[in-house]
Amino acid sequence: MCGIVGIVDAGGVSLSLYYALYALQHRGQESAGIATFDDEGRLYKHKAAGLVADVFNTTVLSTLKGNVGIGHVRYPTTGANRPENIQPFNFHFQNHDISIAHNGNLVNTAELRDSYEQRGQIFSTTTDTEIIAKLITEEIRGSGGVEDAVLHCMRTLRGSYSVILMVDGVLYGFRDPLGIKPLCVGKLKDGFILASESVGVDALNGMFLRDVKPGELIRIDGQGMRSTQIAVASHHAHCIFEYVYFARADSVIDGALVYDVRLNIGAKLFEEDPIIADSVCAVPDSGTSHAIGYAQRSHIPFVESLMKNRYMGRTFIMPSQKQRENAVRIKLNPIREHLRDKSVVLVDDSIVRGTTSRRIIEMMRDSGAKEIHVRIGSPAIRAPCYLGVDMPTRSELIASNKAEEDVRHSITADSLHHISIESLVAAIGEERCNLCTGCLTGCYPVSIDGEQSHETVVDFVEGTYQSRLESFGGDNS
Ligand code: AMP
Repeated sequence: MCGIVGIVDAGGVSLSLYYALYALQHRGQESAGIATFDDEGRLYKHKAAGLVADVFNTTVLSTLKGNVGIGHVRYPTTGANRPENIQPFNFHFQNHDISIAHNGNLVNTAELRDSYEQRGQIFSTTTDTEIIAKLITEEIRGSGGVEDAVLHCMRTLRGSYSVILMVDGVLYGFRDPLGIKPLCVGKLKDGFILASESVGVDALNGMFLRDVKPGELIRIDGQGMRSTQIAVASHHAHCIFEYVYFARADSVIDGALVYDVRLNIGAKLFEEDPIIADSVCAVPDSGTSHAIGYAQRSHIPFVESLMKNRYMGRTFIMPSQKQRENAVRIKLNPIREHLRDKSVVLVDDSIVRGTTSRRIIEMMRDSGAKEIHVRIGSPAIRAPCYLGVDMPTRSELIASNKAEEDVRHSITADSLHHISIESLVAAIGEERCNLCTGCLTGCYPVSIDGEQSHETVVDFVEGTYQSRLESFGGDNS
């Protein structure tokens, strides 16, 4: 869970990177950073802990010169919350200036790091991104091109990685062969943008072109955009949780508008286990589109009965259980007049630890709600995520060893229903074999020590790369 962006634009990039990162802020709130290159090959950078709006101001942005740059917002998965872990990482290597931003999580970091350290190499961060940087420089040192370097990454890395890279003022983006984390490309008036989600393109009034394909390398410079397919996998493994919770509802990810997926989920929740009540209430914001879908399909009125304090971050980032419980109260306030003596269908995107649902139900009952029927837009989350979503361990996941009825009892709902995997897959509109459902089934698309996995065959393109120039009209065609 991180947001990444890269822009090539003849009119300068710092302000555009700032706006695009702002649109991707939901993907990471811990730190933000931008690196740019000017025409003389000089690198400019600024990064710090905090939100995009706190880290940058007009004075800082005016120092980030050049027509090509990349940016990152971080939500930590691998690597502690330390200043040196803030991305983009910038380094100078054999007359090359390289800058890198990564979204995803590798599962073979420890063994790769160990093998480098055995050879006397040092690391300056605790992140898996530095491993990607090492692989890239290793290949460039052996006089390979960026294509060879990305092939080397795809052969060696296990896990999820959408990466944006600048090498000597040329922008590159690539996605792991399974396409676990999103990455898309858009056209700007005088350039191109790569971004984790299409809302980054929209923020600049750009034209969304397409998703970067799994295993594809995109190269962008002043001449235009080139595509090279480096690896082709027998199936894909798009993260199901992007659709359920993580991505913004107004993003298009791998061909599906997230908002529509969530409406479909809501409709299917009603079809699977219909319940008639006085109103449908969302847990805002994450459950809102699911709840609208339920209301539309059931013809039960959608009534806002929980009001969200817009100025509060996601409760999940509270480190202790006590803090998380108190945070729910500050974040959501029930509207008594909408709840008193009412039966309510309460719709949320997911239950992870169960803390949020339990507290919300308690508050709603205190406000006079008569019946609370909980409907959840994801199947029960039974296993941790190793591939980029910050999920707790099995012992903290309420559904890891409890049946739905026990979870219902624990969160004190009158009834509880999670969408089935089949309906969720149908709501997304993708084949099940192309989605990662590891957190729902405990079976992962890549091999992970001590866990079950299914087999993926990946074919690599060797030696001669067939790159294709993509034209879209205008100056960059
Ligand atoms: P809880 O069941 O109390 O652990 O919290 C579940 C709520 O947290 C869900 O309704 C989501 O809105 C939100 N959520 C789910 N997964 C995550 C995550 N990985 N990081 C932050 N928030 C999450």
